[in-house]
Amino acid sequence: MDFRLVINGLGHAFLKEFGCFCARCQRDEHVANTSASIVGTDKKNGEVAWHCLVDTGLGVTRSLCDYFSPADARLDWLLFSHWHPDHTLELNRLGETLRRMARNRNTKFIRIPAWCRNGTARWLQKNYSYEWYRHLRPYISEEVSSPGAILEAVPLGIEGIKITPVTVSHYTADIDPLTFKNKLYSSASFVIETESKKAILLWDADNMNEWILRPETDEQAHARDLMIGADYLFIDCLEWSVEEVQGFNTGHLSFYTVKKYASVLHPHQTLIVHMSGHEDGEGNCGYGWSDDRWESEAEKAWKSSGLEGSIRVPTIGEEFFL
Ligand SMILES: [Zn+2]
Ligand SMILES: [Zn+2]
Ligand SMILES: [Zn+2]
Repeated sequence: MDFRLVINGLGHAFLKEFGCFCARCQRDEHVANTSASIVGTDKKNGEVAWHCLVDTGLGVTRSLCDYFSPADARLDWLLFSHWHPDHTLELNRLGETLRRMARNRNTKFIRIPAWCRNGTARWLQKNYSYEWYRHLRPYISEEVSSPGAILEAVPLGIEGIKITPVTVSHYTADIDPLTFKNKLYSSASFVIETESKKAILLWDADNMNEWILRPETDEQAHARDLMIGADYLFIDCLEWSVEEVQGFNTGHLSFYTVKKYASVLHPHQTLIVHMSGHEDGEGNCGYGWSDDRWESEAEKAWKSSGLEGSIRVPTIGEEFFL
């Protein structure tokens, strides 16, 4: 099989914000929450033979409809980076359309193998009980590892690709979603490896992932090593510089921290996603910027910092060969 990664969305949680005058909220084009598809095609006939979706927030189903021809539509795996609604909200739409698709094709609907960590499983069982039992065949990581741990690879059951979850700190999701009281690390990044390429999906993540900059244990050092030298680093970049609003950590990376993480991870291409800029505040860098503006400002800052590789903002439907 040949593999590629396709971008389904790169928006922050609220996409266009109701009542906001900024240029980002006033644009016309299709927007969707941050999500990607890993697509395997048959080497002989080029047909889509495998599809693994990472996160299913708002607008993602529309992106899938736009990218896949109806005959190529399928879903073999669903991975959840964490439980936040902007990564789960279209679960019902996705599951129900897949069930209808099976019915229209006169085939049996097979529940979708779905990987997630404990906290995410708790959230889905509580808030998406119908979808959990009707649409998914869950694979729960069954651990409460702190950030910087390599988890068991997702049991994809196919050759030529390996997906390894690595735990990350994402402040606003690192809590038991049943009680919102006790700490429960719930977020994962993913390291995708094929015979020739490595891609990292590092969303959503915050500025407390010290293990990336200064690993303290062998396990953290191994996790960082696994992420070094990727062909593509897709990374959370919610803000230009502000990472605290009214005394609270936003739970996301600013471009400032993206630069720090990239300086030790040495990716060939850095691709910023989950952008908002609203947190930076009106009149400041990042606020209301279009994706083009984000890209040109990021490029300038990348060069002036002497960072290696390129930095870009991907587009919905853009393909990255793996
Ligand atoms: Zn998010
Ligand atoms: Zn806005
Ligand atoms: Zn999140």
